[in-house]
Amino acid sequence: MKGTFLTEEHELFRKSLRKMLDKEAYPFYEKWEAEREIPRSFWTKMGENGFLCPWVDETYGGLGLDFSYSMVLIEELERVGQGLASGMCLHSDIVSPYIAELGTEEQKQRWLPGCVSGELINAIGMTEPGAGSDLAGIKTTARRNGDHYILNGEKTFITNGTIADFAIVVCKTDPTAQPAHRGISLLVVEKGMEGFKHGKKLDKIGIHSGDTGELIFEDVKVPVENLLGEEGKGFYYLMQNLQQERLIVASQCQVEAEEMLRITIDYVKSRKAFGQSISKFQNTQFKIAEMATEIDIGRTYINQLTARHIDGEDLVKEVSMAKWWISEMAKRVAAECLHLHGGYGYMEEYEIARRYRDIPVASIYAGTTEIMKTIIAKKLDL
Ligand SMILES: Cc1cc2nc3c(=O)[nH]c(=O)nc-3n(C[C@H](O)[C@H](O)[C@H](O)COP(=O)(O)OP(=O)(O)OC[C@H]3O[C@@H](n4cnc5c(N)ncnc54)[C@H](O)[C@@H]3O)c2cc1C
Repeated sequence: MKGTFLTEEHELFRKSLRKMLDKEAYPFYEKWEAEREIPRSFWTKMGENGFLCPWVDETYGGLGLDFSYSMVLIEELERVGQGLASGMCLHSDIVSPYIAELGTEEQKQRWLPGCVSGELINAIGMTEPGAGSDLAGIKTTARRNGDHYILNGEKTFITNGTIADFAIVVCKTDPTAQPAHRGISLLVVEKGMEGFKHGKKLDKIGIHSGDTGELIFEDVKVPVENLLGEEGKGFYYLMQNLQQERLIVASQCQVEAEEMLRITIDYVKSRKAFGQSISKFQNTQFKIAEMATEIDIGRTYINQLTARHIDGEDLVKEVSMAKWWISEMAKRVAAECLHLHGGYGYMEEYEIARRYRDIPVASIYAGTTEIMKTIIAKKLDL
C-alpha cells in the first residue's frame, strides 16, 4: 500500500536505490552476515549515490530532500536485512539530524559532509551497563575544565559502536542536578581522542552484520566546541528526536512483517503435504489471513504517521503506540511464518530463520514495549 506522501519522484528514487542494492547489497548480504560486518566500501558507495542522509542541505553535500525520501531508504534497506538497515538508518536519520538541528555552523561543516559521503560513520551512546530504560540514571560524567570537558564512563549496546568515527555521547555535566535529567548534555566524541576506546564488538543472537559495541571513556579531553546544543538540555533534545527514531524502528518492523509474510506465502504455495500444497489447508489460510490483516493495519498506521510526522505534528503518543504494537506484531508474524515453514524454517539457509532471529530486538531498542506503554499512559493522564 502506497503512503500518501509518495509521489512519482519517490518511485524513481526507489527504483534507482533498488537497482543499486540489487547489484551491491543483495548478492553479498549472506556473506556480510557470516563475516558479521558491512564493508566500509559499501557505506561510501551509498554515499556516492546520494543514499546517505539525503535530507541534508545541499550546502553540506546532501540532496536537501525531506523525510519522505528517508522512509523509502529505510524500507528498501530493511528489505535487504535488519543488520544493514539498523546501522545505516541510525547513521542517516537518527544521529545526523542531531548535528543538523543542534550543531553550530562550524560543527555542521565539520561533520555533515562526511556523514553524507559515508567517510564518517556515526553513533549515539545513551545506554550504559547500569542504565538503559532509566536514561536519567546514567553515570557517565563530563566535568568542565577550562576550554574542555573531562569525560569518564562507559556505554554499551551501541549500534555502529566499533566502527563509528564519532559518537554523540549522553553524559552528565551536572551530576547533582535535581531532577537528574536536567544535568544531561550531549558531547561529540571523536575517534583518536586520547582516553577514548572502542570496547569489544558484542556477540548478538541476530542482526549479525550490524555492528554493536561498547564505548569507554577514561579522562577523555573533549573540547567545549564539541558540546552539541546547550549544556543541561541533552535530555530534552533526546526526547524531541526519539519521535523520529521510534517511527523509523516501527517502519522497519512493518517491512520485516511484510517480507516474512511474502516469503511464507511463496513457501506454502510450493510445499506439498498429503498430496496438495500446504496453502490449501484451512489452518494455513486462516493463519495467513490473520497475519495479512494485522500487517495491513500496521501499514495504514505507519503511512498515516509518516505523513503527519513530515507535517511536523507532535506524535509522541501515536509513535509510541506504533513502536510497541508493530514490533510485537512482527514478532508474532516471525514465529507463525517460521512455523509454517516446518523444519526448513529452522535451517539457516532459509531467509525466514534469519528474520526470526533478527526481529526480537526491535521491541527492546529505541525504548522497550513497556517504556512505550508508560509514555502512552502518561499522555492519557493516567
Ligand atoms: C542490538 C542493540 C542495539 C542497540 N543500539 C543502541 C544504540 O545505538 N544506542 C544506545 O544508546 N542504546 C542502544 N541499545 C540499547 C537499548 O536501547 C536498551 O537495551 C534498551 O533501552 C533497554 O535497556 P536495558 O537493556 O538496560 O534494559 P532494562 O532497562 O534493564 O530493562 C529490562 C526489562 O525491564 C523492563 N522495564 C524497565 N523499566 C521498566 C518500567 N518502568 N516499567 C516496566 N518495565 C520496565 C524493560 O521493559 C525490560 O523488559 C541497543 C540495544 C541492542 C540490543
